[in-house]
Amino acid sequence: MGSKRPRSRHHVQPAPHRPLRVLVVGAGVGGISIARGLLRDGHDVTVFEQRPEVRAGGGAVTIWSNGETVLRQLGVDMDGAGQELSTVRVMTSTGRPMTTLDVTAIVDRMHAPVRMVPRRILLGRLLEGFPAERIRCNTQVVGVAEDSRGVHLEFADGSCADGDLVIGADGLHSKVRDIVGAQHAEPTGWCSWQGLASLPESADRRVAFVIVGEHGNLGLWPAGDTEAQWWFDLPWPPDFVRPERPIEVIRANFSGWSELVDQVLATLTDDDLTRSPYPHFRHPIPGPGRGAVTLLGDAAHTMPPTLAQGTNQALLDTMVLCKAISDTRSSGDLSAALRWYEKTRRRRVAAVSRVASLQVSHGESVLRPAALVPDRVMTWVLATFLRAVSHRRMAAGISRNLAAAPTSGSDEHAR
Ligand SMILES: Cc1cc2nc3c(=O)[nH]c(=O)nc-3n(C[C@H](O)[C@H](O)[C@H](O)COP(=O)(O)OP(=O)(O)OC[C@H]3O[C@@H](n4cnc5c(N)ncnc54)[C@H](O)[C@@H]3O)c2cc1C
Repeated sequence: MGSKRPRSRHHVQPAPHRPLRVLVVGAGVGGISIARGLLRDGHDVTVFEQRPEVRAGGGAVTIWSNGETVLRQLGVDMDGAGQELSTVRVMTSTGRPMTTLDVTAIVDRMHAPVRMVPRRILLGRLLEGFPAERIRCNTQVVGVAEDSRGVHLEFADGSCADGDLVIGADGLHSKVRDIVGAQHAEPTGWCSWQGLASLPESADRRVAFVIVGEHGNLGLWPAGDTEAQWWFDLPWPPDFVRPERPIEVIRANFSGWSELVDQVLATLTDDDLTRSPYPHFRHPIPGPGRGAVTLLGDAAHTMPPTLAQGTNQALLDTMVLCKAISDTRSSGDLSAALRWYEKTRRRRVAAVSRVASLQVSHGESVLRPAALVPDRVMTWVLATFLRAVSHRRMAAGISRNLAAAPTSGSDEHAR
């Protein structure tokens, strides 16, 4: 079967109300979220993960109100997870304030908190009550094919699995994306050195900092308990060679930018940087897919971390895809449902990816005019943008329906 492109002629038309056999590739936040949602909706879902175990990489992620809303819909208990934020302060490397975002005002407008959560905690919460037997680790997908009987996954060990639907949630270097013929991700020329460290005692635990310089920028975001996520963004040229002592390069670029950051820098060693850097990539947003195969999360739309929206966008994919699949129960046309999901997401996710890729985030001088805009206007602009790209009405309708629905038998899978 190998890396065959799924054929498009076959429109799998499951009988209305029949649970679908869903094959999810990848057990990251995207894969586990969609699996949770579709189990909740009564489908027969299996997740295939190439690694020996489900594990979160990297430091922490920001879950904005739009992502938190979907986590609530999935029944994920985020109470006490990570650190809820009240403020993001943006300044220059010389200490000049550029803007102060009032996160509390965004929370009020979007009716859900904004929090920084270590990735291991987010994945742990997503896996609480998730049926472990639904995840098959050590299973690397190498091929996808489709015929009149359904879709078929082929694994590196030569075994196969059959289903009605394949969801490629296999991240930046997605095999499923390759097979459906979507374009590869392109590097943006930047990378992040990042991780978790102890937050200095003097720091306010609800306030996050971004500091922008001429040739790089950094962030220090409280992530709960005593932890804080730090990142240092620097150029990542095509001929990048990893420095032998990266901490020296980081100190040379960023020391003296802020007292708080200097305190963190003093505690970091090369060991804290072993998993860095994380180069930034951006996928061209793919056109409509074909047949009973679709993409979700980074497999569909890897974007630079500038807006901290990647995980949140994977969660919104989950919400829209669950709705699309629920709605096929009346028409039975799965392929049409998947095309509706892709179309519904494309414009919004393209807007987020475009804004996240603007190079202004990397230049103090380009950002200087931002200091002239009043803080409350900047906060309003960000909240308005987040609302515009978050399928607000759909989200509200789904949340209402879920709250009104009696607890169904399908809930036994994802409680
Ligand atoms: C430096 C950095 C900082 C970031 N900060 C934030 C942030 O603050 N907020 C935010 O929302 N987002 C952030 N992101 C983005 C976020 O990390 C991603 O958007 C998110 O992790 C995507 O989840 P995913 O499940 O789609 O993919 P992944 O997390 O990459 O999961 C894909 C899974 O698929 C598995 N897999 C891959 N290939 C196969 C195969 N062939 N067969 C079987 N399994 C396979 C992988 O092993 C992996 O487990 C950041 C990204 C970077 C690089």
